[in-house]
Amino acid sequence: MTDWVSQLADDVIAEAERRAPGKTIVCASGLSPSGPIHLGNLREVMTPHLVADEIRRRGLDCVHLLSWDDYDRFRKVPVGIPEEWAEHIGKPLTSVPAPPGSAYPNWAEHFKTPMISALARLGVTYRGVSQTKQYTSGVYREQILHAMRERDRIDAVLSRFRTKAKPKAKDADEAAALEGSGAAEEEAGYYPYKPYCALCGRDLTTVTGYDDETTELAYTCACGYGETVRLATHDRGKLVWKVDWPMRWAYEGVVFEPSGVDHTSPGSSFEVGGHLVGEVFGGQQPIGPRYAFVGISGMAKMSSSKGGVPTAADALEIMEAPLLRWMYARRKPAQSFKVAFDQEIQRLYDEWDALERKVADGTALPADLTVHARSVRTAEGPLESTRRRVPYRMLASIADVTTGDEEQTLRILRELDPADPVTDLESVRPRLDRAQRWVSTQVPAEQRTSVLAEPDADLLAGLGDEQRESLRLLLERLDEHWSLEGLTALVYGVPKLQAGLSADAKATPELKAAQREFFVLLYTLLVGRDTGPRLPTLLLAVGADRVRKLLGA
Ligand SMILES: [Zn+2]
Repeated sequence: MTDWVSQLADDVIAEAERRAPGKTIVCASGLSPSGPIHLGNLREVMTPHLVADEIRRRGLDCVHLLSWDDYDRFRKVPVGIPEEWAEHIGKPLTSVPAPPGSAYPNWAEHFKTPMISALARLGVTYRGVSQTKQYTSGVYREQILHAMRERDRIDAVLSRFRTKAKPKAKDADEAAALEGSGAAEEEAGYYPYKPYCALCGRDLTTVTGYDDETTELAYTCACGYGETVRLATHDRGKLVWKVDWPMRWAYEGVVFEPSGVDHTSPGSSFEVGGHLVGEVFGGQQPIGPRYAFVGISGMAKMSSSKGGVPTAADALEIMEAPLLRWMYARRKPAQSFKVAFDQEIQRLYDEWDALERKVADGTALPADLTVHARSVRTAEGPLESTRRRVPYRMLASIADVTTGDEEQTLRILRELDPADPVTDLESVRPRLDRAQRWVSTQVPAEQRTSVLAEPDADLLAGLGDEQRESLRLLLERLDEHWSLEGLTALVYGVPKLQAGLSADAKATPELKAAQREFFVLLYTLLVGRDTGPRLPTLLLAVGADRVRKLLGA
């Protein structure tokens, strides 16, 4: 089936065959653990994951390399982190202390670890590569020495893309980490390698001289320190980013790597890298699409302490892994989409359940079948799923009304469909847990439902004859209609009875108005406001005895 994943897999296989026939195909992603790894960054991983997974499904050898760019500099102190962290600006992310209260040994680990566990739950298999480990163990030694020998050529390539504007002073360190210090016109010359200072650990260093024969490299640091090292044995520094990326494309033989839309601009690292990889490193630029932005809808205030950017782990707390995979699989990389943290998640789940039903009864379109298959399993096997798929919105309503009480939850679930009752909570997990979590963390307090403890005596006393009659008709028939289906028929049916219509009468505007009025009466008596969860669910959740009491029986 040709969805975008299949088409890209075709391209990648053909390209790999042209470049290095018979070798393991390499797809790559890069993540910087400089902060929470949000759902937009997840696309950086999901795009090559889906393609690599498709290639593996076809029985070919393919590795998904995930580069942790944890040897990059710590750029700025995020909101909510003590000012003292400013002294670490310019150090590798693995040398910066983790945020206060963290259980992890350093900044990079603190943000990497939740992503690693989220990727495991999403069924993403990959080979993780820590750039700190690579650089500090000398893996790239030859590549670094080569880049230094080729520094004039690199500088010439970079200068073709350089804009005239000098970076502002505060951005100068950033710019140097990107391209290297010492542009051609400066006396010291251009060097694509930046040492981390032996004294202060930061990259506020300037290379002042280099000898290709001895590999002796002299640098000074903004802290006042300076030394001469032998680059052939020196493992505390890195190639500047615009050189580092193409070096790794060549080193790893990457055939496929997507990039964010920010890489489309002229002179971007991706574009410049495309020239450097061939002209300097004798490799080829990977093929790969630009992927568009992933937005969020909703996301309650509780997460703003983390900078307001939800991560994959946050999403997996409120939705199952196949649903999250589905969102990334069904849209082409160039299409942006939103991950719902608000009420929209209920509609999304309805859509997903409708797809699952079509797949189950064989009526799904081929394209939908393909995307569904990518969502529920990988080449390695199926993902965790919920056995008994009670609608998410139903579970959310139950969680809302019961505030998660297990006994009540099970009672309601059992009564939903007496012909085929839910007999244990395990069968509705993990979906139940996700819905409970969504209600407790994302539904604002003013939208939560709280069932009245006592009947509203004043309201009951002031009811008109027709209203009393409607409640009597409902209560009389309550027991025989006690199921989701039965109660649905009953709440719509009472106004029909009152109007002298048959149960299957077509809705007229008058009837609709009467039904709306009846619903408002029930909501007001049960939860003290004029709206709430769908009435049949609410009635089941409240329980027959309490319904009788609150409706004045
Ligand atoms: Zn220093």
